Amino acid sequence: MAEGKIEGRLCFKTSGELRKALLKREISAKELVDESYKRIEEVDDKLNAFICLTKKSAYKTAEEVDQRIKINSELPPLAGIPIAVKDNMCRQSELTTAGSKILENFISPYSATVIKKLEENLIPVIGKANLDEFAMGSSTENSAFNAARNPWNTDKVPGGSSGGSAVAVAAGESVISLGSDTGGSIRLPASFCGVVGMKPTYGRVSRFGLIAFASSLDQIGPMARNVEDAALTLQAISGHDPMDSTSIDQPVPDYTAALKEDIKGLRIGVISEMLEEGINSEVKNAINASIKMYEELGAKIEEISIPHTKYAISTYYVVAMAEASSNLARFDGVKFGYRDSNADNLMEMYTKTRAEGFGDEVKRRIMLGTYALSSGYYDAYYKKAQQVRTLIKKDFDKAFEQVDLLLSPACPTTAFEIGSKTDDPLSMYLMDICTLMVNLAGLPGISVPCGFDSRGLPIGLQLIGPVLSEELMLRAAYNFEQATNFHTKHPEI
Ligand code: GLN
Repeated sequence: MAEGKIEGRLCFKTSGELRKALLKREISAKELVDESYKRIEEVDDKLNAFICLTKKSAYKTAEEVDQRIKINSELPPLAGIPIAVKDNMCRQSELTTAGSKILENFISPYSATVIKKLEENLIPVIGKANLDEFAMGSSTENSAFNAARNPWNTDKVPGGSSGGSAVAVAAGESVISLGSDTGGSIRLPASFCGVVGMKPTYGRVSRFGLIAFASSLDQIGPMARNVEDAALTLQAISGHDPMDSTSIDQPVPDYTAALKEDIKGLRIGVISEMLEEGINSEVKNAINASIKMYEELGAKIEEISIPHTKYAISTYYVVAMAEASSNLARFDGVKFGYRDSNADNLMEMYTKTRAEGFGDEVKRRIMLGTYALSSGYYDAYYKKAQQVRTLIKKDFDKAFEQVDLLLSPACPTTAFEIGSKTDDPLSMYLMDICTLMVNLAGLPGISVPCGFDSRGLPIGLQLIGPVLSEELMLRAAYNFEQATNFHTKHPEI
């Protein structure tokens, strides 16, 4: 390290602090990447946040940053800041597994748009983060590469499916990360691991190169240890992409510009259905305390009903499984990935490849999804689910005529014991009750740390906004964060 003026544990610094040190040449980008790998070596045996490390490309990016610093050339805001990327985003010439055996040796021939954007922004990708297979799950136990663990208590799950991305940030293995969120997979692990996680508006971030789970629900988003870093990361990855036909063609605002303005007079609606039965009392207390904090910050609070909440889980799981069964048809042993080598004929090759390549949860979803789409059942299940989805969307439209943002817990509980729900898929699905309507309605949602339970496990507060209200949501989250100190606490691992 050049002068060693930056003090304290580097692994828990914010991107702003690290950028200052980089520009003052107190530390080099190469040393920052070194720090990440040192930390991974120190803790990742216990956490399993990474499926693979991408040292060569990370150091190459760092070298370019250091070159630019040497000649005092302009640097994008997150240049040199180590990031972890969920392993369902393709990177050219590198391993992309989606947490599945069927892709365990898959080297992608192209890069996802978000990866290209990270490259343009000179953000070193230090590795691919662990996830539930094809992003299906709420605990990261469905990974074919073993479960990831919660850094606050390694007997607990980190949440899922972007568990590795949340753990990497919470444990200081990377400064920021990318996750994907189909029904809560960014916000749930963010809440269980005590970090910030945002699911942007559907279409704000390109899905090109994201291995599809449920295409009408999937969205990539940032995870970070504070709101400002989440805003900067969102800035780096957002924007229109001609390669994704669902991408929104609207300019990207400056997400950090208005972050620090106050929120006096902001109207926040508390979703009444999400503070009813089924929500753990310690979570409820933390949310009630957060509501008081928002009042102190000058927000106007009112109760809002989203009446179709009771149909949310069933609607989501019909839509998500139907789309998954169709998206996963491509994994047939022919085009890419794993192929059974002992089959005698084509049909046997297909069936053996899929039987051996997919895990139990993925198979369950392919079967249920195929059933829901089959002729005779399509109208009763898939079409009906899409109709209820419209009703849910209308509930939100109505709510946003009365309030600017909505508030709820991010999850009904804190992190649960590893193995405690693996035999009971339904109880696992219930973990998504607070998050999945946001995806059904295409809205942005963010989870921010809002407390700890009596066992020291983090609790997450969710804010939901209308389409493309990311700026406002980030400002509301930032104001809350600055008035509390939950985000300054780190797990002792
Ligand atoms: N837990 C939900 C599911 O298993 C959400 C997953 C996700 O958002 N990727 O479908």
